[in-house]
Amino acid sequence: MDLERILFSQGFGSRRQCRALIAEGRVAIGGSIQTDADADFPIDDLRFDVDGTTWRYRERAYLMLNKPAGYECSREPQHHLSVFGLLPTQLATRGVQCVGRLDEDTTGLLLLSDDGQFVHAFTSPKRKVPKTYLATTRHPLDERQLQALREGVLLHGEKTPIAAAAAAMRDERQLEITVNEGKYHQVKRMIAAAGNRCEALHRERIGGLALPETLAPGTWQWLGEAELQALR
Ligand code: URA
Repeated sequence: MDLERILFSQGFGSRRQCRALIAEGRVAIGGSIQTDADADFPIDDLRFDVDGTTWRYRERAYLMLNKPAGYECSREPQHHLSVFGLLPTQLATRGVQCVGRLDEDTTGLLLLSDDGQFVHAFTSPKRKVPKTYLATTRHPLDERQLQALREGVLLHGEKTPIAAAAAAMRDERQLEITVNEGKYHQVKRMIAAAGNRCEALHRERIGGLALPETLAPGTWQWLGEAELQALR
């Protein structure tokens, strides 16, 4: 693939901007600066440097972010910062989007990708991907509330009760809850319907993928093959 197309496909701007980056001597491959935008390179496992930062060519981008509180999962946030501001600009340029959304005040595991089919399939209600959260509640939890969550609670505006796939007390006011759907404010509304109140919410796991302890809040990493397998 020619160098201009490589940079363009990876989100480094318009074709014209990519040509300019190359002409300005800001792009290197294997340590040597490349100024020919039409030069061809095999993309298989290709590494390239732009302004001294090394990137690997990826046909599709799959990543996870440890979302901090105070960020909206939107490119045009209404009241807070955007999670996209936590990523390098070329990821937003190449069309990376959130795989399902977290509320502004919810923290933890957020997936992002520019693979439209993956995003669509993963967020489809038919798919029923289990998502596990740690919720801090205002009031001490009791067995009656856990039972209600497991058996199903009726949420405002819904016709049928909705049940947690799992609900367990981790501490007096810490609830580990797994849901298979992704309805608006679902976990908070379920906890309210069970007679308590959610004070803080953190997503720990999606399907077989757990948020790594080493991923600090506000930072992101690429999903490796094993992690993608854990999601499939
Ligand atoms: N449920 C909620 O209530 N909020 C989230 O952000 C995610 C699940």
